[in-house]
Amino acid sequence: MLKEKSIFPVTNQRPERVLTFLITSIEGICLLARYQPTIALEACKNTPRISIINKQCLGGKLKTMEMDIDGASKPKDEKACEQEKEKGKQIVALLVGAPASGKSTFCENVMRASSRPWVRICQDTINNGKAGSKPLCLKSAAASLKEGKSVFIDRCNLGKDQRVDFVKLGGSEVEVHAVVLDLPAKLCISRIAKRTGHEGNLQGGKAAAVVNRMLQNKELPKLSEGFSRITFCRNETDVETAVNTYAAVGPLDTLSHGCFGQKDPSAKTQLGILKFLKRPHETDTQDSVPSQPTEGNSQCGKTQETVSSSSGMANQKIKVSEDPVPGSISQDDSDVPTLAFPSISTADFQFNLEKASDIIVQKVEEFMDKLGNAKLVLVDLTERSKILSLVRAKAAEKNIDSKRFFTFVGDICQLYTKGGLRCNVIANAANWRLKPGGGGVNAAIFNAAGAALEAATMDRAKSLHPGNALVVPLPSTSPLYYKEGVTHVIHVLGPNMNPNRPNCLDNDYIKGCKVLEDAYSSLFKGFLSVANTQVSFPSSGSISSGPSKLKEDTSGTKTNSWAPCLQALYNIAMQPEKHNKQVLEASDDLVVINDMYPKAKRHLLVLARIKGLDCLADVRKEHLHLLKTMHEVGLRWTNKFLGEDASLVIRLGYHSIPSMRQLHLHVISQDFDSKCLKHKKHWNSFTTAFFRDSVDVIEEVNNHGKATILDDNKLLSMELRCHRCRSAHPNIPRLKSHISNCQDPFPAELQKKGRLVPVHTNSDIDP
Ligand code: AMP
Repeated sequence: MLKEKSIFPVTNQRPERVLTFLITSIEGICLLARYQPTIALEACKNTPRISIINKQCLGGKLKTMEMDIDGASKPKDEKACEQEKEKGKQIVALLVGAPASGKSTFCENVMRASSRPWVRICQDTINNGKAGSKPLCLKSAAASLKEGKSVFIDRCNLGKDQRVDFVKLGGSEVEVHAVVLDLPAKLCISRIAKRTGHEGNLQGGKAAAVVNRMLQNKELPKLSEGFSRITFCRNETDVETAVNTYAAVGPLDTLSHGCFGQKDPSAKTQLGILKFLKRPHETDTQDSVPSQPTEGNSQCGKTQETVSSSSGMANQKIKVSEDPVPGSISQDDSDVPTLAFPSISTADFQFNLEKASDIIVQKVEEFMDKLGNAKLVLVDLTERSKILSLVRAKAAEKNIDSKRFFTFVGDICQLYTKGGLRCNVIANAANWRLKPGGGGVNAAIFNAAGAALEAATMDRAKSLHPGNALVVPLPSTSPLYYKEGVTHVIHVLGPNMNPNRPNCLDNDYIKGCKVLEDAYSSLFKGFLSVANTQVSFPSSGSISSGPSKLKEDTSGTKTNSWAPCLQALYNIAMQPEKHNKQVLEASDDLVVINDMYPKAKRHLLVLARIKGLDCLADVRKEHLHLLKTMHEVGLRWTNKFLGEDASLVIRLGYHSIPSMRQLHLHVISQDFDSKCLKHKKHWNSFTTAFFRDSVDVIEEVNNHGKATILDDNKLLSMELRCHRCRSAHPNIPRLKSHISNCQDPFPAELQKKGRLVPVHTNSDIDP
């Protein structure tokens, strides 16, 4: 066996000397594997006598590693056998990164150490050593896949449109991954400025400008594009970890699905050369993550950690903005109803894993058609979980859509905050008394949900029979609700094969399988009933459907899938008496508050108080009177402001796609003099056609029964232009410095119909 005390210093040795030395000692390889997995793999590859059976065990998991000597394959470790039996899929891994981010080096390092057949398809050299086209890369990738190889797509792939065709190469036997080399622009640019002899001839100072332009338009990949795994690397340590992870994936291995090292997907590009070359006193916040902490106490503003993969990736922190950017909410698939469930009965109740995995896959398959675009996720705490690997393999055999049913490694109580996976419903492997305790998932869920879950459960039932499930809506006071976005917990009770627990079936698997089937049917039906209370879910990547919509539930009130952190305005509108400090004015119809993150000297919100009137898209003719009242109240406040400061100009209107729930009218002065205005999207949401003037909305609703929604995402991504003279500016600070001095008249369109207050009159403008 391997002995810890045999550790010897290898890190200072030259690799070739280490290899020569190591092949004399199996133990030496194992120890090296612990500290230098890449070199150890190389040593094994070059040594016919030695191979490492389970390369996934490298990197700190020495105790599960077994050696095979002279080709005699005798793995002694049960876990190693399990993983070996599982059939690994081919992988298409798209490298995503600016020039000089290290894409080619990444591929080369993996390929040097990997026992899996990889091909690197590099657009810079694909045409007989010269740069080629995307179709050529696609063709070459398809051919390599046919030969059974896994493929690295070594091109920048910085836009979704650049990736979409490569994602289509995936299928039941091919997983598509993205490896994002999101290294500091500064590093890429300094590398590029120095490099010579680049295979695509992209080098020198001119290339730095290209990098900058590319970074300005970068779109980070999302799982909803069709990737089963995305690895974000933000520094060289992350890259090294990712190389080791991919290098350790043998032909039979698979990597777990999900986002690793995740960064806020809505955070756009880091700064490019503009920032890099800027004088130190200048700051540039365009499209960057806010650099200073944002105010407020919204639950949304939490620090997130990603789930850590078994490959030993370092957890990373990402900051979610407290002040959501308009129009961004529906851009991912976080609104799609998703059920996360643990394997039922296989832990404490000791149900046979093979049989249980058959039942899970059979039941998932049965419900797939009924679920629409909803998703099912089987969750376990550890990547080495046998049930996860069995289910993955069986689901793949049955060609079950891996985007709608997949496995996930993480804590079911922290899927969103630690894993970035939003699941609005989670299942609990409950006990028959529906009580907390007992360890495992049940204890964890009751613990995380707090007393609110216990009370809500007892309101509905006092016990549960094996084979049944109980849907419990989670009160909004539960931390699982407001931190994780879980709206329902479904308790499920499966069959028990453990003689030390109640109702043991004494190994009667005929009965046991039937009960387990019933339990999953009941669970999925319960989830279906929750999912069906939602009218429509925006298709992934679509902004046009706006934030997730609500539907009347059986009690006549609406259930909703807005993230709790986006409901602050709704909560104030529904219960203004509980928000005395914020409320400036309240009536039966509306509530007036100061915007918590004002984007100008004066910025008010007039909130409608009708339940279910979430956004402009919900407005109909019957709301006309309310719209007029909101406008009148907005005007009254406007006049007050003008009385205090006659230099102000004020505009009243709605965002086409709001970020926050509950219809609200913005009353905003046109100085835009505010530190809270940080993003291009902020600016464009108030100065492009995305902003719908209240007067126009009233007219349209009066004439056509509804308002026009200009929800084109391009409006929010447009270049920054002064709202008065229309001059273009490279970033927010420059724009702000310009608008603080610009005295040009407002565009003619804005001066019509009372869109601006006070009314600006030019002789050439229609009254
Ligand atoms: P919209 O994009 O039209 O939904 O705008 C929502 C507005 O609500 C933004 O201007 C935010 O600054 C503002 N806001 C966000 N959270 C709060 C809050 N808790 N109280 C008051 N205003 C808020």
